[in-house]
Amino acid sequence: MYAKSGSLVDARKVFDHMEQRDNLSWNTIIAAYRRHGYPQETVTLFHHMQQTVLQPDRFTFATVLPTFAKMGALEQGMNIHQRIKDKGILSDVVVATALVDMYAKCGKIDKASELFDRMPERNVFSWNAIIAGYTQNGFVEKTLETFRQMQFAGVKPDPATFASILPACAKMGALEQGIDIHRSIKDRSILSDIVVATALVDMYAKCGSVDKARELFDKMTRRNVISWNVMIGGYAQNGFVEKALETFKQMQLAGVMPDSATFASVLPACAKMGALEQGVDIHQSIMEGGLLSNLIVGNALVDMYAKCGSIDKAHELFDKLPQKNVVSWNAMIAGYAQNGYVEKALETFNRMQMACVKPNSTTFASILPACAKMGALEQGMDIHQCIMERGFLSDIRVGNALVDMYAKCGSIDKARELFDKMPQKNVVSWNVMIAGYAQNGLCKDALKIFELIEHSGTYPDTVSFACVLCACSHAGLVNEGCTFFNHMSDPYCITPTVDHYVCMVDLLARAGYLEDCLNFIIKMPLKPVVGLWMSFLGACRAHMNIGLGVFTALLLLDLDPENAATYVLLSNNYAKAGRWSEVQIVRRLMKDKGIKKIPGCSWIEGHKTVHVFCVGDRSHPQTQEIYAKLEKLDWEMKAAGYFPDSRHLLNDVEEEEKELFLCYHSEKLAIAFGLLNTPLGSAIRVVKNLRICADCHIATKFISKIVGREIIVRDANRFHHFKEGECSCGDYW
Ligand code: ZN
Ligand code: ZN
Repeated sequence: MYAKSGSLVDARKVFDHMEQRDNLSWNTIIAAYRRHGYPQETVTLFHHMQQTVLQPDRFTFATVLPTFAKMGALEQGMNIHQRIKDKGILSDVVVATALVDMYAKCGKIDKASELFDRMPERNVFSWNAIIAGYTQNGFVEKTLETFRQMQFAGVKPDPATFASILPACAKMGALEQGIDIHRSIKDRSILSDIVVATALVDMYAKCGSVDKARELFDKMTRRNVISWNVMIGGYAQNGFVEKALETFKQMQLAGVMPDSATFASVLPACAKMGALEQGVDIHQSIMEGGLLSNLIVGNALVDMYAKCGSIDKAHELFDKLPQKNVVSWNAMIAGYAQNGYVEKALETFNRMQMACVKPNSTTFASILPACAKMGALEQGMDIHQCIMERGFLSDIRVGNALVDMYAKCGSIDKARELFDKMPQKNVVSWNVMIAGYAQNGLCKDALKIFELIEHSGTYPDTVSFACVLCACSHAGLVNEGCTFFNHMSDPYCITPTVDHYVCMVDLLARAGYLEDCLNFIIKMPLKPVVGLWMSFLGACRAHMNIGLGVFTALLLLDLDPENAATYVLLSNNYAKAGRWSEVQIVRRLMKDKGIKKIPGCSWIEGHKTVHVFCVGDRSHPQTQEIYAKLEKLDWEMKAAGYFPDSRHLLNDVEEEEKELFLCYHSEKLAIAFGLLNTPLGSAIRVVKNLRICADCHIATKFISKIVGREIIVRDANRFHHFKEGECSCGDYW
């Protein structure tokens, strides 16, 4: 009596004082503990009962089996199964249903299904147990099939059936079947069941029918926090992030307290929209609700601030998280990497390892592009080691990121070796390899890889074509490039995007076909973008077509008046023609408009840290040695026949000021640092944010010969492998 009224302690007192206990009293107390959510105590009492003279009966078994199911205690469940068989009560519908449920919940769906098929009698609970089992074990098609069999058998589904079947439709995106099920819920009492109604809204939202979901949601007579979460999550997952935020506001106005799941849906919506202000408001509600220490909420907040560009705030929150899991670290690492703080990303990755948090594939997929961007090969290799130790090498996303890292760090052979060893490849893997060859100037290899794609059974996509066109453009392979471009729509059925047109313009213009290129631009079906004209303008300068160059520059100044690169290219066009007064006019214009060029800087890795140099930089602790080294090199270079051509400098001060002529450009500083700090004979790897200038290009050729080392410079466009006085680009860049 007490047990049912909810006072478990009183019930236990009565039970303990009973002089004689029969099966009924044991079953009652065991059931009471189960109902109140004490699985351990339920099991203990069951064991106590067996130490008495009494024998557990069908009710006892039906009571303890759900507890074993909940605990995932398969062995104990199987033990009970045996005893049920021994007692010959397997045909009892209640007992058999509890067994089916136990096996399903313990992940033994085959066993559950076998038992279910053998049941001589089944009620709605038996059907619910097997249907829920299929859903929970991920066999959603089986769920739907079993539901049809249930209807065929004439068993009337109840709310619990619908609550299992609708998530299966949602997961499969089976909208039509979902609609059928919705229609079959004729019973109004079922439709007003909040669990069923919420599952319906969720089904429509997850099947992409978000308006229908909203219509149902608005009709719901009762809504709890779960229904609101389903609606908000539905909008967020369907990309309607503004609607998600709006619904969140309505929820607050309706006086429903958001929970951690609400915030976990609404914060990524803010992150996606870059809606920092709303994010800050939500942060406030989280604090008021006392949910800041919830790990999922904390992680979502860090991620939101990072994705909204507020990286310092993200870091502050991250440091304050009472506990951190791999998701927290991933949010912070990806945040740094995406906001361009590559060094910080690497530092955070190292901290993560010191904190003994195991990285997962997402971690590697965030950190490797950071290494790639910085050309941090040594650290990339350490991470490769870590990936092997942790067994993530066969993860396709990690494999692709690793190949990309090696390619971008100039280790193209290593990239290829890994690529060949990949157990599985997708189109991204192929694209990464093509792009890697193209960037490293190995264009023939890029084309060969492209040919291999189809033999592998994969279809090239729009990115594959962009990569292969880029390869053609780097190597001046005009005919090949045109063929690829023409084949895109037929036979590949890919409509060229603006990226492909930019590649084609680059290809034609750089190869000197300026008139043809202009015709191509005029005829193209898309609006030419700034980048396309920039390519064309660069080529005009290279081929000394001053008329076309000035025409293009003026057009560009109209399109994008604040772009420093246009002014620089225009002034270079005039300079190449020796029209110095015009050069002065352009420069004055820039100064008057307050347009600043992007300062050139270069990175180099040494002693597992990345060192950054700007033009004329004197802030590095080894500055004295670096400058001494450069002076010595200057002298040796001049002895070998190098003379700094001021005309070169004028022509190509594309990125760096002519006034800084006497200073050393950043790549030279980085190279000198590399000579001082890396082992003799090893390759020196430098990354530059802008295009390398002609003077540095010549100088680096000389240096590579004088010091007898390979120097690899990755500039904004491509790789230059300098070796024995030659560059892999063949001076075509
Ligand atoms: Zn330079
Ligand atoms: Zn080069």
